[in-house]
Amino acid sequence: MRILITGAAGFLGSHLCERLLGEGHQVIGMDNFITGNPQNLAHLAGREGFEFIRHDVSDFIFVPGKVDAVMHFASPASPNPGSPLGYVNLPIQTMKAGALGTHNSLGVARAHQARFLLASTSEIYGDPLEHPQTEAYWGHVDPIGARSVYDEAKRFAEALTMAYHRFHGIDTRVVRIFNTYGPRMHLDDGRVVPNFLQQALRSEPLTVYGDGQQTRSFCYVSDLVDGIVRLLYSDEHMPVNIGNPRETTILEFAETINRLVGNPAGIEFKPDLRLGSDPQRRRPDISRAQQILGWQPQVVLEDGLQRTIEYFRSKLGLQTV
Ligand code: NAD
Ligand code: UDP
Repeated sequence: MRILITGAAGFLGSHLCERLLGEGHQVIGMDNFITGNPQNLAHLAGREGFEFIRHDVSDFIFVPGKVDAVMHFASPASPNPGSPLGYVNLPIQTMKAGALGTHNSLGVARAHQARFLLASTSEIYGDPLEHPQTEAYWGHVDPIGARSVYDEAKRFAEALTMAYHRFHGIDTRVVRIFNTYGPRMHLDDGRVVPNFLQQALRSEPLTVYGDGQQTRSFCYVSDLVDGIVRLLYSDEHMPVNIGNPRETTILEFAETINRLVGNPAGIEFKPDLRLGSDPQRRRPDISRAQQILGWQPQVVLEDGLQRTIEYFRSKLGLQTV
């Protein structure tokens, strides 16, 4: 296939490009670098089958030649208000990437009669009242809260994708991605993994927001990409959760990182910076992914963290131990 991947210079997009090239597909990466980094694609430059187009997906997208699949990953993705890369600091760009960017990406799929895959998110469940979250849950989302620019853009994107499927017969898929980590995460986007790893590697205390009893479930990037590729190859049109169901409190997560890095500085509790918008529990129910895609995560948290720690060490110019 010749596959257009928007958001290709980001954390997930760059891994997806690599995986699909490795499977013998041609890949056209597209990005405007608003939160991504050309370095993430440097190793693919000049590789046969790979092309790159610098473009803002909120503007009309033109791709010369045939396209067999479109994977729409372009969007700011960090909720952290303390980082300039956080979507609360890029509110209009985030809404445009989810709304106009999805519309334009679907337009490419329609023009080429290509299959389409939307990168949606566990955030469409908001601060969930059901636990774990199945795809049947409609969510608990504040339409004007701090996270709304992201959550509502992604909910709109899902609705638009289903409209193109039902009205235009486009061969669409929707993946709801839960917290993912691994090499090529942005060092400074303020998400919990980069924050904790940088702090631990610098022998500083880890900043746990609130009491640390909020939970997340962390999926290693190779597992996530494997689930997404299986979904792309499947005939499933309804949303599918992809994530790791092992749930941990943020406090336990911080302790695990300190243990793996050997950080003596411990933990520092900080007030909840997120204006009360921090979802308290998050864990995917992955029964549908297991049944439909035969998928489940393989990488255990400690192993995935070790690989990510090595990446952060090299980026921070620290010696590998
Ligand atoms: P990222 O910021 O590393 O990557 C997003 C990429 O999209 C960046 O390279 C950015 O420059 C690009 N982009 C943003 N707006 C654009 C625009 N208008 N035109 C062209 N390019 C644009 O984030 P990520 O973690 O890799 O997330 C990728 C996708 O996966 C996003 O859609 C995000 O919502 C979704 N997602 C990620 C996670 C996660 O845990 N990483 C969880 C749920 C959903
Ligand atoms: N968090 C934290 N300290 C940090 C960064 C994040 O305690 O330095 C917490 C945050 O409050 C949230 C969790 O870690 O409960 C995950 O945050 P992240 O920004 O990675 O993404 P989210 O899952 O909220 O979208």
